[in-house]
Parts: sequence; C-alpha cells; structure tokens
Amino acid sequence: MTLIRKNFDVLIIGAGGAGLNAAVQLAEADLRVAVVSKVFPTRSHTVAAQGGVNAALGNVDEDKWHWHMFDTVKGSDYLGDQDAIEFMCREAIPTVYELEHQGVPFSRLDNGRIYQRPFGGQSRNFGAEQATRTCAAADRTGHAILHTLYQQNLKARSHFFTEYFAIDLLQDEEGGVTGALVMDISSGEPMILNARATLLATGGCGQVFRTTSNAHINTGDGMAMALRAGVPLQDMEFFQFHPTGVAGRGMLITEASRGEGGYLINKDGERFMERYAPTAKDLASRDVVARAIVTEVREGRGCGPRGDHVLLKVDHLGEATVAKRLPGIRETSRIFVGIDPAFEPIPVYPTAHYVMGGIPSDRFGRVVAPARHGPEEVVSGLYAAGECACVSVHGANRLGGNSLLDILVFGRLSGLDILEYLEEHPRHGQTDSASEEKAMARFQRFDREGEGIAVAELRAELQKVMEDHAGVFRTREIMQEGLEKVRAIRDKLDDVRLHDRSRTFNTARVEAFELENLVDVGMSIVTSALHRQESRGAHSRPDYPERDDRNWMRHSLYFREDDRLDYKPVRTRPLSVESFPPKARVY
Ligand SMILES: Cc1cc2nc3c(=O)[nH]c(=O)nc-3n(C[C@H](O)[C@H](O)[C@H](O)COP(=O)(O)OP(=O)(O)OC[C@H]3O[C@@H](n4cnc5c(N)ncnc54)[C@H](O)[C@@H]3O)c2cc1C
Repeated sequence: MTLIRKNFDVLIIGAGGAGLNAAVQLAEADLRVAVVSKVFPTRSHTVAAQGGVNAALGNVDEDKWHWHMFDTVKGSDYLGDQDAIEFMCREAIPTVYELEHQGVPFSRLDNGRIYQRPFGGQSRNFGAEQATRTCAAADRTGHAILHTLYQQNLKARSHFFTEYFAIDLLQDEEGGVTGALVMDISSGEPMILNARATLLATGGCGQVFRTTSNAHINTGDGMAMALRAGVPLQDMEFFQFHPTGVAGRGMLITEASRGEGGYLINKDGERFMERYAPTAKDLASRDVVARAIVTEVREGRGCGPRGDHVLLKVDHLGEATVAKRLPGIRETSRIFVGIDPAFEPIPVYPTAHYVMGGIPSDRFGRVVAPARHGPEEVVSGLYAAGECACVSVHGANRLGGNSLLDILVFGRLSGLDILEYLEEHPRHGQTDSASEEKAMARFQRFDREGEGIAVAELRAELQKVMEDHAGVFRTREIMQEGLEKVRAIRDKLDDVRLHDRSRTFNTARVEAFELENLVDVGMSIVTSALHRQESRGAHSRPDYPERDDRNWMRHSLYFREDDRLDYKPVRTRPLSVESFPPKARVY
C-alpha cells in the first residue's frame, strides 16, 4: 500500500455550515484549503435544519441583541459562558445579513424584509413578552444556507475531498496537531493530509441514541478523534431531546410548527403545556416541553392505542399557511406517518436531537484543554467549530435557532483566527512517527479475520442502552447500570469483524469506524451524566430535582484516558454588559 501525502495550509474536516463558513474565509484569502467530508458536502446535516436562525433584526417587533443574550443565558440554565454568548448574539445580526448578501433566499415579509418567526424561549424586555427572532427560508432554512455556502466555496476554489473519511488526527511530539489520516471511501486507500492548522467541524452525535432526528452520518467522529488525541469533551451530559419527533420514528417536526401557532394536546384533548409553562406554553424552552410530554405519557394521558405519544395540532392554521410556512414537515408527515398535518394532528414524542457538549473551544474556535492537573492551554494547530465544539454558548440547554447561528458565527471566526495563526506559523509541523503509526494501526484494525460480532448488532445494542439509560429523566441507578453496559460494549469492540473486507466503497468498514466513535462518545455522555448530581437544563435527575448553583455552576471535562472527569468554572462575565446572575428558570 503506498501512502499518499498531500500538504495544505489548512485542513477542514466537515463540510456542514461550520466547516464551509470557515473554509470560505480562508479560500478567499488565497490559502490552500482542503475540505474533507464523508458525504457530498450538501448532504451534511445542516441541510436538514428546518426552522431557522436567530438574530435580533427586529423586522417584526423591536428587538435587541441584549434580549437575545438574556434568553440564551436563561435557556442555558446559566451554564453557558456569558462572554461567548454576548459575542454570538451581537455577531448574529451582521452574520444573517452577510448570508443574505451571499445569496441565501430567505422568506420575506410583505415589506420585503427577511421573514422572522417566534421560537421557543425567545423574549423581549428580558422575559416580559414573546419575541419574533428566527430568520427563516420557509421550513428549509438549513438547505438554503448550506447550498449557498457550498457555491461560495466553489467560487473561492476550496479543494474538496468528497467521500473521504477522517480516521484520526496526527500530532507532533508536543501534542500540536499537524493534520489527519483520512481514507478515500471509494478506493479504501489511506492518505495523509498535512496542514499548518486543522479545524474539526464534524457535527453532532445523535446516532448514539436509537430514536433521533439526526442523520445516519452524525456519529460524533470529530469528538472521538479529539478524545483519542488527549483532548477532553466538555459538558457531554447535556443532550437535547427535541419535544416533537415523529412518534416511534424520531424524524423532526420543527419547533416552527409551534412558532407558527401549533400546539400540543394529550388524549383528553387538553392543551397541557398551560399547566407546565403558564406564560410561554408551547413555546417554553425545549427541555421543559420534552419533560412535559414524557410526564403526560407516564401519567397515562398519552394518545394512541399504546398511549405512548401526544398530538401536535397545526390543522387550525389552515392549509394555505401550512403549505407556505411548513411545507417540509407536511412532506415528512405524509411520507412517514401517512398524515397530512393541514387536516390531522401529528403523533409526536421527544427525539434525541442535539449535543450541547463537545470539544472545548474558545470564541476564536481554538481548542483549549488542560494539561494533566495543569492549567488550560490552547492546543497548537487545532480548532473546532459547530455542533462538535462546545464554546459554550448553549450551556445546559440550547434554544431553537441558536445552532445554525453558532455554526455560522464560530465557523467564520475560526476561519479568521486561523488566518492570524498561519502568519505566526509559516511552516508545517513535524508529525511524530508514533502518532502516524497509531493512526495507521487504527485504520488497519478491521482487516483482522475470523468470525465475530457484526457492527450493526453492537451499534443497535449501544443505541438501545443509551436510550434506556441516558434519556430525558435519569437517576443514579439507571445511569450506573448504563455505564456498566456501555463499558461492556466497549470491551466487545475487539471482537467486531467485517464480513466483507474488500476495499472498494466498503461502507461496512466506514460503519465500523463510526461505531468505535459512537462508543467513545457514549462513554463520555454516561460518565459525565452520572457524576452531575443536580438537575439543570436538559440533564434532569428525579433523585436530584433541584439546580445546585453552589456546587455545580461548572463545566465537566471527560478524558478518555482512565475515563477521568475534571471540572472548570463557568465564565459569568460578559464582554461589555452586566452579568446575568442565576435565577429560577420559569417560562
Ligand atoms: C433535523 C434537524 C433540524 C434542525 N433544525 C435546526 C434549525 O432550524 N435551527 C437551528 O439553529 N439548528 C437546527 N438544527 C441543528 C443544526 O442544524 C446543527 O446543529 C448544525 O447544522 C450542525 O452543523 P455542523 O456544521 O456543525 O455539522 P454538520 O452539518 O452535521 O456537518 C458535519 C460534516 O462533517 C463531516 N464529517 C463528519 N465526520 C467525518 C469524518 N469522520 N470524516 C470526514 N467528514 C466527516 C460530514 O460529512 C459533514 O460534512 C437541526 C438539526 C437537525 C438534525
């Protein structure tokens, strides 16, 4: 096997919104940029984003970035870093205008301005009234954004490695990152991509759960690659369950359906959210609505023959509104449950949707990690942005419409920071041979022969364990058992065998690498969750029902080595305004 080596100024792993918005900054500056994606770029999960992107444009009612910041801090259950949140909410406004100028076809208000809709957890005047802040292109906003960014990258001549799978990061002797080992999926051949700076923009890991809104490709590869390179994962206990997945299937029915005036009912036809969130009702924060649905079902007020879901009504909005504002979810409902939401309610139940945690990075996209018991340091040459990163702007619970914002703002900022970094680092680093050998050993791991466990079998087992033991409500017993089960699955990885070991477009091999990544990510979730003894945001523990600011206003850090945990303080000081101190979180 000949090992091909290529040099680039910058390596970007991931062609979703985060990766593409970083790449365009760099390619426009005439740098040699490699963008690696395991699928065709416009099939990245960003394309599936429905509802929209938040920015206080004030096109419908008066709005301010400061109110957006308040909502995001409150939504995060005070775990988000307030400097990063202030930065993101301020940057939101120019970011959306820039997208519009790049060609994103936003829906329009009658006066020609960008269409905005209300979303969960949004307010004006610091919680006083509902705001209207989510900028949308019908219910296919991600599609519009991703296609535009891809076209901008083609124009700027970013170099795409499409259908290449990143295996592992490469490092110099000090742990600085020098590029990555990737596999050409079509030929199964390995290739070394050397770069002066590497950005991980590999998206989320929803596939670690059985019922999820996430695409098949969202397997946490970048997070696991960071773990294997010695970088911890931050706040992984915080996983968002979106309240309205198609019941039993998991596909997403966007929050925009409630933003446009839809609401939830139980088997008695009751609008039950009025009991859980008297003011915001169906537009309370996602963690609140998801818990309410699970509680209704557990207390016997679920719908259907098995009483295992609730109903989402949008039929009262009229067919014209559904057709104009919610065409995507209409199609999803028709295809997957044979229901036309313009005339009938949709059966829904919470679905694993978004990971608030990820690779610890600062607001310039630089990955920061503490040395063993030492202070936090920037990992030389390594950046992370998008859902795989944790800046942290979402803290314990993300607001709808804030993730597209996060990927765009911090994708762009990473690109700009890399420009500066490259000025100071004109030469390529020297990859340590041990690091390259380790990566190659992993690449060859599934060449081993003999009978063993099938990938699909072990993946299904993991997904079931995660769903049963790290779901919407979690107790110590449940999670302890979950931890042991995930550990046992990790041990079984050594027995995984491929039935087909051929090289050419062998998706089974890709799925085997993905399974290993899912197991690492699953371990980080259950380990961090078991140790956080409080309820905050999406982490809800009946055995510790209260938020505990005295002991737990801190971020968790999970290290793969010895499954060790560490903690670091929340950054409560914003950049230019007063801090929002923790308060009871009611909607
Ligand atoms: C159904 C759905 C609807 C959503 N709706 C909204 C919404 O309305 N508003 C909102 O704010 N957020 C929404 N979100 C969340 C938001 O869309 C995502 O968090 C965001 O798009 C993630 O973008 P990203 O750039 O980080 O990653 P992604 O878009 O997921 O891209 C990841 C990229 O990494 C590549 N990759 C991964 N692993 C490897 C590997 N090993 N080798 C090579 N390449 C790799 C993939 O090929 C892909 O190109 C939604 C999410 C879902 C699932």
